[in-house]
Amino acid sequence: MAGFIAVPARVRALDETAGVQVNFCRMPTCPNFGKPPGSIRRGRGGAVNLYRRNGLKRGVSGLQCKSCGHISPIKSNLGVAEELARISVYLDPPAGPTCPRPDCDNRDRPISAHPELYQRQGKTEIGSQRYLCHGCGRRFSVATKSTHRQRRTDHAGVINRICETKHVSPPTIYRQARLLPPSVPRLRGRS
Ligand SMILES: [Zn+2]
Ligand SMILES: [Zn+2]
Repeated sequence: MAGFIAVPARVRALDETAGVQVNFCRMPTCPNFGKPPGSIRRGRGGAVNLYRRNGLKRGVSGLQCKSCGHISPIKSNLGVAEELARISVYLDPPAGPTCPRPDCDNRDRPISAHPELYQRQGKTEIGSQRYLCHGCGRRFSVATKSTHRQRRTDHAGVINRICETKHVSPPTIYRQARLLPPSVPRLRGRS
């Protein structure tokens, strides 16, 4: 299920959150363009930072670029991460089989969510369920079980590759996968 984000116990406004960092210099010609602020320390040691805090106006804290002087309002990475997670729910493709014809209106409407758009019409010789699509008036069949098995195999392949390259155990990956931010390539269901 989409919508989970990994959030540390304490989050400061400029901390990268769940892979999201939206605070950086926005001047395309500036050498600091797109560079994250890191932790901004006050007083001694401040010189190592690319930015300083500088209020835009009352109640709005700003991030001033030390290279070009441009000030951007500081945005909550957590807020953006939460918004991305919310939106990604809608970007997730619908679950389950649909009419396979690319030009059909039902292409993105799964049978499970829109049973009224399809009509069961018996089974094929190898036992796949056959459907009539009311969108395009054509028939197609769905090998539910083998599709499911195929998907599980893809999933397992991805997990195994990560385990090999990162030297971690599958349970670790599965724990992390449930907390993946939306900006990380998806593990769920597909490779
Ligand atoms: Zn700048
Ligand atoms: Zn169709």
